[in-house]
Amino acid sequence: MSTNDSNIIGIGIESTAHTLGASIVDSTKILSDVKDVYKAPEGAGIHPREASRHHTEKASEIVKQALNKARVKPKELRFVAYSMGPGLGPCLRVGAVVARTLSSYLKLPLIPVNHAVGHIEIGAMLTGATDPVALLVSGGHTVICAFESGRWRIFGETLDLSIGQLLDQFGREVGFASPCGARIEQHALKSSNLLSLPYSVKGQDVSYSGMLTAAKKMIHSGQRFEDICYSLQETGFAMLVEVAERAIAFTEKKQLLVVGGVAANKRLSEMLKEVSTRHSASLHVVPLLYSGDCGAQIAWTGLQAYKAGVQIPVEKSIVRQSWRLDQVDVPWRNF
Ligand code: AMP
Ligand code: MG
Repeated sequence: MSTNDSNIIGIGIESTAHTLGASIVDSTKILSDVKDVYKAPEGAGIHPREASRHHTEKASEIVKQALNKARVKPKELRFVAYSMGPGLGPCLRVGAVVARTLSSYLKLPLIPVNHAVGHIEIGAMLTGATDPVALLVSGGHTVICAFESGRWRIFGETLDLSIGQLLDQFGREVGFASPCGARIEQHALKSSNLLSLPYSVKGQDVSYSGMLTAAKKMIHSGQRFEDICYSLQETGFAMLVEVAERAIAFTEKKQLLVVGGVAANKRLSEMLKEVSTRHSASLHVVPLLYSGDCGAQIAWTGLQAYKAGVQIPVEKSIVRQSWRLDQVDVPWRNF
């Protein structure tokens, strides 16, 4: 069953990792997007139990704020969407409980959203990309994909760490609090001295674990921190550029979309711009405000799914810690 009503208002809940977010959308735009991010102690990574405690404590306030900022009353909502996965189990479960509660109390359909699809859909909506090769670079993902026959098909991905984990784990080694990508970008701007780091592209896949080990060793062998940051970005991003270029050449798509938290990095965009120009493709970078995890990616994707008739009974609304992008049916993209 699909619905054709003119203006549909709904809420989306995001809770896959450090971010608890809630957002209200209508049929054409984002009405509100509110979030609160769990901060790990300096030098430490995200602790799933502590992050889920954070989400539980903030949930009712974040939902209230999202409704207030959008000037929407609960009875105006037509659906409740939530991040079903992939992500950290304890964190996902908080978002699912919030969404099930809203759905049961307000008697609204519950819409399961894949977080990675959410990153791509919000990027496509905000940048006008219609049929892109998509590069999803975040804390949880490093994937290059394109849409074909009902699903996002993966052309290449990381075999170990995501690019976000590479930057975060490197930053934590010097005592930064996660997420560290933005701080590393600032330090990288102060260098142009390229140090040799392992460049590892295997077929269409990338591997960052050797680069992380080598970069950590460089810190302890007294190399300039700015030089290591610069080299990490140059080498780590060049691997993505190589894989993205092959995906564009193979698919002959004319758009390259970059989404996820690492899409905030200016140097990455600069490098991808060269590739897209070379292939007469347009480059679409998700705006900074919506590059990291947020409720809007779930609410907006939830809207597309709701309109296409996707929903899940509350009693079956489990969370899926591992839920690959290429396992998700996307019935609202019909090409
Ligand atoms: P997400 O998982 O989509 O919320 O993205 C979070 C990831 O984006 C973390 O690994 C951050 O370190 C990374 N990130 C955020 N801003 C930047 C930036 N300016 N440059 C590189 N990475 C970034
Ligand atoms: Mg994410």
